[in-house]
Amino acid sequence: MIVDKFGGTSLANAERIASVAGIIASSRGGAQAVVVSALAGATDHLIAAARAAAGGQTAEYEAGRRWLCDTHHRVVDELLATSPERTRIRASIDRQLDRLQRLLDSIAVLGELTARGHDAVASVGEKLSATVVAAVLRHRRMEAQSICGTELIITDDVFGSASPRMEVTRNRIAERVRPLLDQGVVPVICGYTGATEAGAPTTLGRSGSDFSAAIIAACLESDALRIWTDVDGILTADPNVVPDARVLRELSYAEAARLACFGAEVLHPRTIGPVIQHGIPLTIRNSFNPDDPGTRIVQSPTSDRRLWPAIVSATGLQLLRLRSGNGSWQLRSATDALARLGGAGIEVRMFSQSLSEQGLSLVVGEQDGAHSAQLLSRSLSAAHPKSLHERVLDMIEDVATVSVIGLPSDRPDRIASRAFAALGKHRVRVVAVAQAATEDSVTFCIPAREAGETVRFLHEELGLGNGNGGGGDCAGKG
Ligand code: ADP
Ligand code: ASP
Ligand code: MG
Repeated sequence: MIVDKFGGTSLANAERIASVAGIIASSRGGAQAVVVSALAGATDHLIAAARAAAGGQTAEYEAGRRWLCDTHHRVVDELLATSPERTRIRASIDRQLDRLQRLLDSIAVLGELTARGHDAVASVGEKLSATVVAAVLRHRRMEAQSICGTELIITDDVFGSASPRMEVTRNRIAERVRPLLDQGVVPVICGYTGATEAGAPTTLGRSGSDFSAAIIAACLESDALRIWTDVDGILTADPNVVPDARVLRELSYAEAARLACFGAEVLHPRTIGPVIQHGIPLTIRNSFNPDDPGTRIVQSPTSDRRLWPAIVSATGLQLLRLRSGNGSWQLRSATDALARLGGAGIEVRMFSQSLSEQGLSLVVGEQDGAHSAQLLSRSLSAAHPKSLHERVLDMIEDVATVSVIGLPSDRPDRIASRAFAALGKHRVRVVAVAQAATEDSVTFCIPAREAGETVRFLHEELGLGNGNGGGGDCAGKG
């Protein structure tokens, strides 16, 4: 049996969802489970609406709800125009959005967004998409049933970044999914979401549907997991930034996990754990180009494959600088700040703390920048003089991180020093640097507007471009 996961990019609109249905239909034969993300943009709108509700910005959260309503109705109207289910599915979307409205209203009354409230709102996108995708499959004469992640993946109560309790999750999946597979029904399962044993909705972290799919594949002891996205696999750099990036055709679990941990958006870092245990082959495939074989991730790759270093860039980030002007900075100031953000479910992508500079630089997603600054200024103003709290808000800068990662990690050529040398030629302003104990990777934090050019420069300078020879298993894209 196989598990197919489709990300938001593959579910962006009616046309894309129709292609996804085509991919699912063309792989029918054996048992198949499908895991879906929310439609592209839906989770961002939900989280923004929840924050707007907490801030009492009624018009903003109403606009978010309207976007969700219009987007899902449009897809239903286009894809289910001739389906007898059209009215029922529209009504189901409306019911889910009414529930969302009540949730947002309660958050507005409380004037505070708890991590638990955040997850209750954020998980709505996958419920909507699974409802729609299952109906589209049925309209194409496939037996399909949507299932909430909350019914299947039982987690701890770390809202915003929950972890599955595998034993109980395995039992739930055996009870609920296995019978459907045995009857030839395609379960269309909401990714990203789970629930505590008490039934409170949780989420597995942003972009967590990859992880959901891996958990489900592991519990079903699936023969393969295919993650469908909008690029031809894992490449030597984001192909939207470097058009001649090469596809890494075959990676070990450890190599893929490493790239994911450095922020290669294409694969969530927690995905590898569950598949490793059962040795489930994982492929990253392009739903826009389904004939391409993509990247294959296995325990033991073929020995003659050619490997390349990769450049992982992350944009849409903001740097917050906390600094004490009055010598009061302590290590504790940094741990407090990190704990405060972690407690609010905000992922800190990189930080560098300097006792000598009396400060901390933090990198968070831009959607979290203003919220992080607010949280930090609130906690700092409680503990420190007002001048310090004002400075936090002043020091927000749009940044990108660029990591250069050698693969495999025991290659003799020290990639970090090559990257420093290459970057020296490029003369970009480096805002912060992070390097762990090894010399086979390094991460630079640079101004956002310089990201694309810097990645292209490094890619060329490190000899990764398609014009630079090579071939073998890492043949160029397309
Ligand atoms: P999905 O909606 O399918 O989950 P994501 O946006 O999470 O898709 O991931 C796919 C995106 O990952 C691509 O569009 C690409 O821009 C980005 N990406 C970043 N680094 C890489 C890389 N090294 N190889 C491939 N894609 C990458
Ligand atoms: N919809 C969720 C997000 O946008 C999960 C996912 O797409 O994997 O983060
Ligand atoms: Mg993703």
